Amino acid sequence: MNNEAMNIILQKIREYDSIMLFRHIRNDGDCVGVTKGLKRIIQLTWPEKHVYLIDSDTAKYLEFMGPEDDDVSDDVYKISLGIVLDTASEDRISNKKYTLCRELIKLDHHIPLETYGDYQWIEEDMSSCCEMVVKFYAAFRDELKIDSLAATHLYTGMVTDSGRFRYSDVNGDTMRHAGILLDIGIDTETLYSRLYLDTLDYLKFKARIYNQIEITPNGVAYIYIDRAMQEEMGLSLEQASACINNLDSIQGCICWIAFIESGDEKGSVRVRLRSRFVCINSIAENYRGGGHARASGATVYSREEANALLRDADALVKDYKETHEGWL
Ligand code: AMP
Repeated sequence: MNNEAMNIILQKIREYDSIMLFRHIRNDGDCVGVTKGLKRIIQLTWPEKHVYLIDSDTAKYLEFMGPEDDDVSDDVYKISLGIVLDTASEDRISNKKYTLCRELIKLDHHIPLETYGDYQWIEEDMSSCCEMVVKFYAAFRDELKIDSLAATHLYTGMVTDSGRFRYSDVNGDTMRHAGILLDIGIDTETLYSRLYLDTLDYLKFKARIYNQIEITPNGVAYIYIDRAMQEEMGLSLEQASACINNLDSIQGCICWIAFIESGDEKGSVRVRLRSRFVCINSIAENYRGGGHARASGATVYSREEANALLRDADALVKDYKETHEGWL
């Protein structure tokens, strides 16, 4: 089944002279890495093809991966094969002009919320979408070309989406796929420094985060970051959103959630949910979101709705703890 999907994708890429790559809103290391990595592989393999990555949604911490392409006329979209990477549902595709493409492929590793596109390759057990593209490269390595830039893009997504190879969806294949990239040549010291070093100001923000973490009766750790705190600390939405990573190591708190007020006119609050042992995607799906079993995103529109989500998460964790052993 997966081999068939990979064969179709290779065939379609061969067929088209113009290919456009798309990814999800609120981009992250995986969706940026996979679009840039696949773009580079196609360009190296077929230098005569035109490959476009057009997206105005960028993240400061990923700027080192280089800029996106300038937009082109609708006529170019209309003759192109579109490949949407790392995006479960159409409403999350960042560049809305994907609908103009002549044919569309969905290539994703999220729990499928809906089917879109003419062809799909979904592997929801893969630790990252980048890993899927490494698998694709490995399957057709006699034909496909790769270099250390493409490998670094793909490795960036593998590292970030797997929590530095720590999450439960990391398996032997993940490491073998990462090994293929390392063999090609990656400056991991520079890459990890770019991804994980903080400024002193940001460390001070982290100190405040630790002081404000709260825990529900059954062990959901959470933090609510309002606009006032973001403004006072001079934080971008992206920087404030990164606080989710500071809640992940509390004994007994097997689910953790960050609420970040976005400051838009609708009053939306970004919700980032993470867990170990217990699956939390069902909570996200009830609050306009989705994602993975243990890493999901959602949106709420008020403090009351945030509290309702917390009550649901607390009930889920309570049930899990009462019916399972071995969690930590
Ligand atoms: P985030 O906390 O935004 O990093 O999201 C965690 C994971 O869930 C990422 O893989 C996102 O792509 C995915 N995700 C976030 N929001 C949604 C949503 N509304 N629908 C589906 N997947 C989502």
